[in-house]
Amino acid sequence: MQKGEDTFKKIIAHAKEYGFIFQSSEIYDGLSAVYDYGQNGSALKNNIKDYWWKSMVQYHENIVGIDAAIFMHPTVWKASGHVDAFNDPLIDNKDSKKRYRADVLIEDHMAKLDEKINKEVEKAFKRFGDSFDEKMFRETNPRVLANQEKIDAIRTRFVAALDNDDLKDVKALIEELEIACPVSGSKNWTEVRQFNLMFNTQMGSLSEDASLIYLRPETAQGIFVNYLNVQKTGRMKIPFGIAQIGKAFRNEIVARQFIFRMREFEQMEMQFFVRPGEEMQWYEYWKEDRIKWHQSLGIPKELFRFHDHDKLAHYANAAADIEFQFPFGFKELEGIHSRTDFDLGAHQKFSGKKLQYFDPETNESYVPFVVETSIGLDRMFLAILSHAYKEETLDDGSQRVVLNLPSMLAPVKAAILPLMKKDGLPEKARELMDNLKYDFMCRYEEKDAIGRRYRRQDAIGTPYCITIDHQTLEDNTVTIRERDTMQQERIHMDDVKRVVLERISYRKG
Ligand code: ATP
Repeated sequence: MQKGEDTFKKIIAHAKEYGFIFQSSEIYDGLSAVYDYGQNGSALKNNIKDYWWKSMVQYHENIVGIDAAIFMHPTVWKASGHVDAFNDPLIDNKDSKKRYRADVLIEDHMAKLDEKINKEVEKAFKRFGDSFDEKMFRETNPRVLANQEKIDAIRTRFVAALDNDDLKDVKALIEELEIACPVSGSKNWTEVRQFNLMFNTQMGSLSEDASLIYLRPETAQGIFVNYLNVQKTGRMKIPFGIAQIGKAFRNEIVARQFIFRMREFEQMEMQFFVRPGEEMQWYEYWKEDRIKWHQSLGIPKELFRFHDHDKLAHYANAAADIEFQFPFGFKELEGIHSRTDFDLGAHQKFSGKKLQYFDPETNESYVPFVVETSIGLDRMFLAILSHAYKEETLDDGSQRVVLNLPSMLAPVKAAILPLMKKDGLPEKARELMDNLKYDFMCRYEEKDAIGRRYRRQDAIGTPYCITIDHQTLEDNTVTIRERDTMQQERIHMDDVKRVVLERISYRKG
């Protein structure tokens, strides 16, 4: 269900028009890869955070949440490896003057070969119909095998080049594959250089005693340095987890695709501390748990897939991404990483403080291993928004744009709409509004014809519109209109709260 670049443009325009996302500092022509969330966007974002937080912290007895500062002691980033290794290889095209991530150019090239394979498979499927054995075809078709061989060879060479920090070979590979700049079409490239993604600033008002500190590029380190504080004060027993939601900053080389890749963004991370040797079983557990979480939002299974990492980060012994089919293709949404004892071990070494856990069951002290789940809140927002955006032609031939957001995440749960601005209808509607607003987010609207008001609510994904009409004055019943089916039923005013609460409940997720 590839929606394509055109739809993506429409989604971006819609996000602005309906108060979801604005460019940062727009009146100054914006700041690259930085965005602000508007009135509806911030509500949707908060609801996603709330759902994640509850799924992690409230529904798991052995996971607790923290909120660590963005600034941390600079040695944290030395210990974590970010000062030395949090780099992306960059390359410039001399003709277009455009800058690219060398790894992304190579990955895109491999993705094109992969696409060729998929086209062969599709063609064969059309030819053979139901009797088609895809596995056999992939294993035996010469064209598929040749392309797969090319992909494997590129991957092996590329991973080895990065592992050995052999940037010359990365450039040689780009040249051999005849990768051209997507803008200029030219193959006139500079050397490949490493670029550290951390932002830094000075702490202290006088520059002579100022010390260089970093804006955190991930929230995880705030959890690691607090792990013993939390374990001791919370009397936590392994296995246990610590969750956190917060801002992270990366000076991305190429920041495109709207809120997919930002320089300031938010992460929702959970570090799960386990016995050494049990990490792989927990890694599998969290992979399964997280994919189920995504599916609990009613987004079809086929839009998600796992992608195992070819090149592991400096801290990991196993890593997989959950990829989502964004309008611009399958891309990483969440990472599940088995981080070993790398981080805690490094902090123990650099701080000189023991970070061991005493296990009362085995009578042993050890540095726990860690399995991490890490998801970008903004990417999750984009996944939800792009899946929810629908253009529909109705039975009467008219068009509507509707966001069929999961109801529990919708910015506004119910719109309260008096049919007319007279005859005591607004007063009656206000009465209902005052009764409901303490339980969920409502919006009162009396301007414009009812049809137009419905459309406005559809466009922001409001699951229920409650209309107060003349019959309400007689028998206290209202109509409740459901966003996706547009069906209306008449219910008693006293039942509205219960009905809406039941339908927007997390229990349904
Ligand atoms: P990518 O390969 O896309 O750069 P990554 O592998 O560096 O991502 P991680 O370090 O694993 O990402 O970060 C965990 C999560 O944080 C990612 O799965 C993603 O959802 C989110 N994330 C990372 N970088 C950004 C960014 N620049 N903008 C928005 N979200 C991001």
